[in-house]
Order: sequence, then C-alpha cells, then structure tokens
Amino acid sequence: MSAADAQDHAGARARLVFEVDAMYSATRAETGFSAMSPAVRAALGKVERHRFVPSGEEAVAYRNHPLPIGSGQTISQPYIVALSTDLILPQAGQRVLEIGTGSGYQAAMLAEIVGRVYSIELIESLGKAAAAKLAATGYSNVEVRIGDGYKGWPEQAPFDSIVVTAAAPKVPEALVEQLKPGGRMVIPVGGSQEAQQLLLIVKRADGSVERKNVLAVRFVPLVPGK
Ligand code: SAH
Repeated sequence: MSAADAQDHAGARARLVFEVDAMYSATRAETGFSAMSPAVRAALGKVERHRFVPSGEEAVAYRNHPLPIGSGQTISQPYIVALSTDLILPQAGQRVLEIGTGSGYQAAMLAEIVGRVYSIELIESLGKAAAAKLAATGYSNVEVRIGDGYKGWPEQAPFDSIVVTAAAPKVPEALVEQLKPGGRMVIPVGGSQEAQQLLLIVKRADGSVERKNVLAVRFVPLVPGK
C-alpha cells in the first residue's frame, strides 16, 4: 500500500469515528451511551478495517455499513461493533469470548482493549482467513477456534465478557455458564426474518441473570452446529 493510500484510510477512519459518534448521540435514549468510551473511540480510530473487508472493497471499508464477506456472512456495521464493545465495559487485561469471528474485525477491536480474545467461528474458511489476518495485523492476543459457538469454549472459561455476533433464537445456556459472576454478555436475540433485539446480559453473583433490551438490530443467524 502506498503512503497516499495509508493517508486516505486514516482520513476515512477519522470520518467514521465522527459518524459513529453521531449515531451514539442519536441512539443514547435506547443504549444509555451518549458517546463512545475513550478506549472504544481510540480502537475504532486505529483498527484498519480495510484489512478485514474482502479485497477490492477497501475503498468502502470505512463506511458505517455492514459488508458481505463471503459464505453468506457479513462484517458488522462499525457502529454496532463499537456499541457491542462498549456494552461489555471492556478493561485492560480481561479475557473475552467472541462467538462468530467472521472477518476478525470485532475481534481486533476487542484485542485493542482487553488482554486476550478467544473467538469461535463455525465456517472453517472464514475462521482460517480471519486468524491469518489477525496474525498479519499484529493481534497476537487473539485465538481463533473453528467450532460451534453455542457450546462456548469451556477449556478457557470463565470469561469476563462474551460478545455474540450472530442472532440466536434464545440465549445459549452454555454461554451464561461460562461467564464470571459480574460478567457481561452482548447477544442479538430473534429469528432471521423477525425483529431482533441486542440484549445485554449481566450475570449476578448468585448465577442468576439480569437482561436488558438495548436496540433493534439485524444480524445473520447463529447456526446450530453439529
Ligand atoms: N464478528 C464478525 C461478524 C461476523 S457475522 C466480524 O466482525 O466480522 C457472524 C458470524 O457468525 C459468521 O461468520 C458466521 O459464520 C458465524 N456463526 C454462525 N453460527 C455460528 C456458530 N454456531 N458458531 C460459531 N460461529 C457461528
């Protein structure tokens, strides 16, 4: 990539931060966030989304839209990625599980802030491509596993937080179990043809959960694994 291209991307990224700020402001009544946290804002301004979109799509990588990434899947809208990251109140040093690696972009956003990211992808070709991109872009604190996200990653549990990036008909019990007490999970719930809600789940010390509807969203479905 030429120096001019790098500069174009930096400019486009700065505009994206501005647009996502505007969306936070417009949705503050629903989400409770009137602005991105400084950590999420910095990560959005830093992660090179053009490296996570399919080749040939770099010029539109910093639009605040989802984009197809092949195999019928999408890289999520930057606003939703930022909001999902803010909702878990990410802290340095935490261990976070992501379900649905997809392009690897959400994993990179998390990896900018927390200590270690464990990400599960059902489709082998996508998971392998994302793992290669994450390694090439220097995110050595992300581990990608090919498998069924419904089951979580019991060997690495418990997690401080879980970010699910595909819509499930209901909250998978295995994921709630793999959250630490006080842990937070963001998950879109609902079918692919009907309204979905982004939910925030907070696990109480006694293991029970508190649920909050955050926002109407549209995600690809979480496919039951075999
Ligand atoms: N986080 C991604 C968004 C990917 S879209 C990004 O930032 O680009 C959702 C992803 O979830 C798809 O790649 C899809 O293949 C994956 N997926 C669907 N069902 C799954 C399951 N049961 N386990 C793991 N991944 C799943």
